[in-house]
Amino acid sequence: MKPTLPPCAMAPEMYQDEILLSPPSRRDVTADEWRDYLTKRASAHRRCAGCDVFDACLYRAVVDVDVTGFLACTSEAERRRLRRDLGIEVQVDSSPYGTARVGGGPVDHAEVLGARKAHPDDTCRQLAERLGCSTSTVKRHLRQEREGRGAVVATIDKPTMGQVLDAFDRLDTSRRV
Ligand code: SF4
Repeated sequence: MKPTLPPCAMAPEMYQDEILLSPPSRRDVTADEWRDYLTKRASAHRRCAGCDVFDACLYRAVVDVDVTGFLACTSEAERRRLRRDLGIEVQVDSSPYGTARVGGGPVDHAEVLGARKAHPDDTCRQLAERLGCSTSTVKRHLRQEREGRGAVVATIDKPTMGQVLDAFDRLDTSRRV
């Protein structure tokens, strides 16, 4: 029997859409752009909500690695909220798991900082082009550096799956669809 692929693997272009990788803030976009974002997010959300490996995907993205983009019904900001709720921090992700979804090879935290230092006037998009990664990956590494999370590691025991799912249930995104 053929293995069943998760919905994100069946529609990778949806999950790699720049608007889901770098969600806009409502005040920075027009009503049409905001509607477009909400529609795309709702579409990915529906697929994740019906995914057979949702629990494992969410757990890994919250507890094990800091993954880019929208997955397991959560944005990067929502997963940061989950980690705060759970009292955990995770290593900056430089594994293929975290970068495969945005194309290009893994981009190291130091590489992003090095590029920023060498090209201080570049926009994030220009840095991303130099590094061959997505703009959101560059933004994430720069944000982590600003927040002093450049090389942090988990400091407490890992939460259980039940704790992660309970924390997810406390987010608004768990009630969408
Ligand atoms: S829950 Fe994870 S594995 Fe499933 S469709 Fe969403 S991102 Fe893909």
